[in-house]
Amino acid sequence: MSEAAVSFARVRPGDAEAVQEFVRGLSLESRRERFFAPVSELTPGQLERVVSGPGIAHIHRLLHPHQCPTLTPLPPAADLPAAISRAALEAGCPECNRTLEVFVSAYGAAAGNLALTVLATGGLYLGGGIAPCILAALRWPVFMQSFLEKSPMDALIGRIPVKVIMNPGAGLLGAATFVSRQ
Ligand SMILES: [Zn+2]
Repeated sequence: MSEAAVSFARVRPGDAEAVQEFVRGLSLESRRERFFAPVSELTPGQLERVVSGPGIAHIHRLLHPHQCPTLTPLPPAADLPAAISRAALEAGCPECNRTLEVFVSAYGAAAGNLALTVLATGGLYLGGGIAPCILAALRWPVFMQSFLEKSPMDALIGRIPVKVIMNPGAGLLGAATFVSRQ
């Protein structure tokens, strides 16, 4: 057995850069082993943080910590989710692709929760700006698998169709229809 000297010292604010440098040098696997534990379920607040435009950027920072060659220079924060989606779907960056896969999985789970909460038996319509941009990824099996994974409500959720609203003016049209009926 070899001998090695180990010394302990309290971490001080001035050590921040050295600690960050150390973490940057770790492999992705090592980061996961050191800092993450499996989570069986996200709280509604955590899910909200993941299933949003900024959520894509959060997942990306975790899975793709080094500069993505297809996202150089890095776009402004507001454009980052769309840029990551393009890097995944059009440029085929594997880490961006994995980012989108994790996002789509969480999106499916959240959509399934909502569908059951409001008993959307007529269908669930995904609106907003994200869904039309990632239409190809929403067709990956992982989205519907996460949507349908709602034991013991499998039979009910299996009857709910999921659609994506492609008309960017749908919100305005809905508001106009509502007002015209008053
Ligand atoms: Zn990438």
